[in-house]
Amino acid sequence: MSKDLKNVKSKIESLRDEIRRHNHQYFVENMPRISDQAYDISYKRLEELECKFPKFKTVDSPTQRVGGMPLDRFKTVKHNVPMLSMDNTYSEDEIRDFNRRVEKNLNSRDIDYLVELKIDGLSVSLQYRDGVFTQGATRGDGYRGDEVTRNLKTIRSIPLKLFTKGKLKFPKLLEMRGEVYLPQAVFSNLNKEREKNGEAIFANPRNAAAGSLKLLDSRQVLKRNLDIFIWGVGYCEGIAFKTHRDVLTYFKDIGLKVNPHYKFCQGIEDVIQYCREWRDKKKTLDYDIDGIVVKVNSLKQQERLGATSKSPRWLIAYKFPSLRTETVLKEIIIQVGRFGTLTPVAVVEPVSITGSVVTRASLHNEDQIKRMGVKIGDTVLIEKAGEIIPQVVEVIKDKRSGGEKAFKMPKSCPVCGGKVARLDSEVAIRCLNQFCPAQIKNAVKQFASRDAMNIEGIGEALVEQLIDEKLIKDYADLYFLRNEQLQKLERMGVQSSANILEAIEMSKNPPLHCLIYALGIRHVGVHTAEILADEFLSIKELSKAGSQELSVIEGVGPIVAESVISFFSSCYGKKVIEKLEKAGLNMGKKSRKTSDLLTGLKFVVTGTLKGYSRGEIEEIIKKYGGKISSSVSSRTDFLILGRDTGAKYKKAKEQNVKIIKEEDFNKMIKSIPPGGKK
Ligand SMILES: [Zn+2]
Repeated sequence: MSKDLKNVKSKIESLRDEIRRHNHQYFVENMPRISDQAYDISYKRLEELECKFPKFKTVDSPTQRVGGMPLDRFKTVKHNVPMLSMDNTYSEDEIRDFNRRVEKNLNSRDIDYLVELKIDGLSVSLQYRDGVFTQGATRGDGYRGDEVTRNLKTIRSIPLKLFTKGKLKFPKLLEMRGEVYLPQAVFSNLNKEREKNGEAIFANPRNAAAGSLKLLDSRQVLKRNLDIFIWGVGYCEGIAFKTHRDVLTYFKDIGLKVNPHYKFCQGIEDVIQYCREWRDKKKTLDYDIDGIVVKVNSLKQQERLGATSKSPRWLIAYKFPSLRTETVLKEIIIQVGRFGTLTPVAVVEPVSITGSVVTRASLHNEDQIKRMGVKIGDTVLIEKAGEIIPQVVEVIKDKRSGGEKAFKMPKSCPVCGGKVARLDSEVAIRCLNQFCPAQIKNAVKQFASRDAMNIEGIGEALVEQLIDEKLIKDYADLYFLRNEQLQKLERMGVQSSANILEAIEMSKNPPLHCLIYALGIRHVGVHTAEILADEFLSIKELSKAGSQELSVIEGVGPIVAESVISFFSSCYGKKVIEKLEKAGLNMGKKSRKTSDLLTGLKFVVTGTLKGYSRGEIEEIIKKYGGKISSSVSSRTDFLILGRDTGAKYKKAKEQNVKIIKEEDFNKMIKSIPPGGKK
């Protein structure tokens, strides 16, 4: 190798080390020490070098997290050591029973335990050979699982290469167990986005994590922002540990993400204390846990205790009492959503769960009803998890009287009477009538909503009235409403009618991405609309784009492309666009930058703001020449502080970054009122 090549190689290696270190600080320790920009620069540089010198590419390079074409299906792999299940218990007495069994089997009263939070996620196994991540698999049936290596690589708290601290040596083969999960905030954003796009929402973070891990396109998995905690060894060649605590410490040393709340307990009463403590404290976490795992700490003792065919004898899972309540399902009604999806909803005898009275619970879809065998009149268990709408989780068939009635999904739309069908591979049944009032109502609501045209005063009730009274047939008709029409509506005063018309008038100059989102194209949520607005200068330009042109855009893909094209070529799409043009809407982009007011200034925003959504304030900053960054660094000029303060605030103080309130920001751009478009 020439000297130049050697230099390139060592440069590549040092860039990789730097990026790995940053990933670890950012995703595992949650304490980044360099700015996002510095990181981006290093990452780009590494990509360039690897592209120019492909022979130095390696599978453990931080650039190799995503890529490749979607798979047709997953391979099945055998686990080196079976992934057994855990024995469950719901009571403290049973934990004491477990302790007595352990004491008896070991013939000792001197047992130390290591207790951990039981993350409500999906168990996976990770394999590292000589410190490099080579294979990951789902638990499957415990003996064989799906090989999901590419999907797991998208989780940035999983190092592609383990760390060396000091003289630590990597085992030849290390197989570990971990729990893949979706943080609550990520989950609720994902569901919001799916709801807006007319996709079925996930019942809880665990289902969403499971669904994400089973996607065949790893680029889609990347967007789901999965995370992981590593909690155990499956198989290890070359290192002998003494205790489970040593194992966890070792994991941390080699760069793995271990849940920080584990505790060493001397004796079972300590264990029970810990369980009690977390029954209440679990609310403070930003991920779901469903219990506590109690493990005998000494590995020698674990070995002596062994396992039954189903589960190890040295551990037990204490499950928190769940928020499930029994009630009677009185009726199943059908709701019709934004894209015509028919969703069955259970009407139940009112019951109180965690302080709120529940009268309805989700049944998700027809398949779910069949799977559970739900009948009208059944006694059911409903569960409320987090802030999600309660759902029916189980039918208590023992309580049947014989008078229960089977439920059938309707053959026509309950709102318009139109034809319904199950499309392609979808679980959902949809109303096929594009003029279905239920769908139009939802389309108008979205059009007027904050992330779309942001028309104040057009809420749910008014939209219902406007459509029921046949004043509008679609959202474009809003721009042709007249004062005397509005006045005729029930409960409509002179002043509020004038306010509404003014708000409609003022919405005629929307940012392009808001308008694209407002159109209500299937699969085009807020985020996708932003991507499209970056690529196209106007609605006209977007409407002319072909599938080739669209699907090559990063973050768009064939499904979105097809949906965009079919919207603009449909009668409905053509009609609303024509009307919006006629109404005089601005349907193109003024040049992005309209002033140099903020040129050269870098902003970071934290917390909830009063007058802006995150998208709005970013739009305004960009419009005036400023830059937005997601994390605070020494190069940040201003931190805009909303409600609640967190890590960014602390960091900004440390870095002496100027911290301003929303009001100060408004003063900076004082010629521009909030919303930036009035
Ligand atoms: Zn319908």
